[in-house]
Amino acid sequence: MFGHPDAAALTHLGLFALQHRGRESAGICTSDGTRLVRHAGMGLVNDVFDGACLERLRNPAAIGHVRYSTTGSCVDANAQPLLFEYAGGQVGIAHNGNLVNAAKLRRQYEEHGCIFRTSCDTEVIVHLLAKPAHQRKPDPLVHVLNHLQGAYSLLLLFPDRLVAVRDPLGFRPLCVGRLGDAYVVASETCALDIVDAEYVRDVVPGEIVTITAAGLDSRRFGDDPGGRGGACVFEHVYFADPSSNIYGQNVHIAREKMGRALAREAPAEADLVIPVPNCARCAGIGYAQESGIPLGRGFTTNHFAGRSFIMPDQRSRDREVRMKLRVIKDAVAGKRLVVVEDSVVRGTTTRGKMGALRRAGATEIHLRVASPPIRHPCFFGIDFPDPSELVALHRSVEDVRAFLEVDSLYYLSLEGMLSCVKMPPDKYCTACFSGRYPVEVSEPLDKFVLERRNVRMFQ
Ligand code: SF4
Repeated sequence: MFGHPDAAALTHLGLFALQHRGRESAGICTSDGTRLVRHAGMGLVNDVFDGACLERLRNPAAIGHVRYSTTGSCVDANAQPLLFEYAGGQVGIAHNGNLVNAAKLRRQYEEHGCIFRTSCDTEVIVHLLAKPAHQRKPDPLVHVLNHLQGAYSLLLLFPDRLVAVRDPLGFRPLCVGRLGDAYVVASETCALDIVDAEYVRDVVPGEIVTITAAGLDSRRFGDDPGGRGGACVFEHVYFADPSSNIYGQNVHIAREKMGRALAREAPAEADLVIPVPNCARCAGIGYAQESGIPLGRGFTTNHFAGRSFIMPDQRSRDREVRMKLRVIKDAVAGKRLVVVEDSVVRGTTTRGKMGALRRAGATEIHLRVASPPIRHPCFFGIDFPDPSELVALHRSVEDVRAFLEVDSLYYLSLEGMLSCVKMPPDKYCTACFSGRYPVEVSEPLDKFVLERRNVRMFQ
C-alpha cells in the first residue's frame, strides 16, 4: 500500500486475507519517505504481529508477505519482505513465485565473493540490482529483470516509491486497487476487499508499475516473443481464495464450472455428493448441480487448523488433516458417495480421508477429482517439486484408485479443465498436468538447491 497513513495496519489486514497463500512466516516493511523499517517472523500473521509492533511500523507506505517456501528452508532468515542496504540506498522486497535460474545467478555472484544472507531465490534479485554496472544502465530495474527466468510477482519498496512487477509470462496473479488516494497492490483481490479497496486492474505480464507521490506510472519489459502465457492454472484449481478474481475470472465460479464439467465427463450413481473441505466445495457444488445428486456434508472442519497442502513436510500435513477434518458419521453411513476433491498430489491425505468415510459406514466411494492427474513437478512456486512424491506418477488411474481404496476414480481431463477458465489455453501454465513447461528449466531444481550448494562449498 502506498499513500495511506495506516498503510502498515491495512497491509496487516491484507496479509490475513492472503494467509492461505503461506503460513510459514509473515512480515511487513514500511517507509516514512526516507527510511525503511521491517518486522518479520516465523508463523501466522497473528503470531508475528501485535499492536505495539504495528505502531512501530506505522508509516504511509508498506509491503507485506506471507511465506510458503518453494526455495529455501522454513527459517527466520528467509522470512520476507527482505530488507537490504546497498550503494543505491534501502530496498525491501517481497516475492511470490520461483526463479528457475537462481542457483546459476547465485553461483556467479558467489564466485566473485558475494555473501548471501538467505537461502531463498529472491535475494539474487537484490544482488543484481546492487551491482554497480547494472546501476549505470539507462533502466537498471529492466536490465535486472531481463536476467530473471521463471515466476516472479514482486513488490519492491524504496523509501520514496513502491514498485510492482509481474514476470513476462504472468505465472502468479497481481492486481492494483485504490483506497481513496492510496494505491494497493496484492496477489489476490481478496486482499483488496478486506481493506475496502476498489479493484482497478491486474498488473499485466511483463509490466512494471511504479507508484510515487505523483501517482502511478507503467512501463513494459521482456515482452514474450512467442506470445505464450504462463498463468498458473493450479491457482484456479486449488491455491487462490474462492472470493478472489484472478486472471480476469472469479475463482469460485471457475471451480464450480470444473465440478460441472467433471459431472459431465464422469457421472456416477450415488446418493450424495460430498466435497472435501475446503477447496473442493466449489467443485462439489458444480458436480451436484450438474448431476442432480443432492449435495451433502460429510466432514466438519476445525477452523483453528490450517491448510494441509502448504505445510512444509508430510508429517505436519498428516497432523494438520487429522486436526482439521472430522467425518459426520450419521450423514454418510449406508450411503453411496461421490466424493469431490480439487486435486490429488501425494495421495496420502486423500487416502486417509477416504478411509475415514469408509470406517464411518459409506457403502460406496466414487472419487471425482476436479483437475487432471499431477504427474510433473512445479518449478514456478508450488511445492510439489519431487516427482517421487506424486501419486499419479508411473501409476495408471486404476493403480491410483487401488492405492486410494475407492470404488471408482475419475479425473477431469486437461481439455475439460481448460474449458472452465477464461483465457485461451495457451495463456496458462499446465506443466504439472501436461508436462509442457512454458519456461525451460535447464538444471535440476528442488526446494533446497541453494542450501546443498552451500554445504558443498564449505566442506
Ligand atoms: S506447474 Fe502447475 S502448479 Fe506450477 S505454475 Fe504450472 S500449473 Fe501452476
